[in-house]
Amino acid sequence: MDDCLFCKIYGGEISSEILYKDDYCFVIKDINPVAPVHLLIIPSVHLAYLQSFEVEDFKILNSMYKVAIELAIAEGVSESGYRLVINQKRDSGQQVSHLHLHLIGGHNLAGIG
Ligand code: 5GP
Ligand code: ZN
Repeated sequence: MDDCLFCKIYGGEISSEILYKDDYCFVIKDINPVAPVHLLIIPSVHLAYLQSFEVEDFKILNSMYKVAIELAIAEGVSESGYRLVINQKRDSGQQVSHLHLHLIGGHNLAGIG
């Protein structure tokens, strides 16, 4: 999609280190981390809102969660704990409309968010 930050990162128009990539999604570090581990798991195709998802889109979401869990283990937060967050629309504070799953961990998040 034109003028979408995450589409531009995926397409290489904006440079950002891609930490992981598969048929469904890719992973980057959040530019403004709120915790020692803050990764964004992003579908390779431009999907925006969960309420518009088709059956095939849920397969992508499923895969994103699987990647997030594997990354939580790889990043060493699977035992200490972590948070998986998808923001949707204004009241969530969503900044980028291209759907993404935040993996946040590495310190105590109780009382935050
Ligand atoms: P949202 O608020 O939409 O759920 O999350 C968007 C996230 O993207 C924010 O946490 C923000 O810090 C991150 N972000 C915004 N611009 C960039 C960028 O250019 N590169 C990277 N890696 N992350 C970004
Ligand atoms: Zn996009």
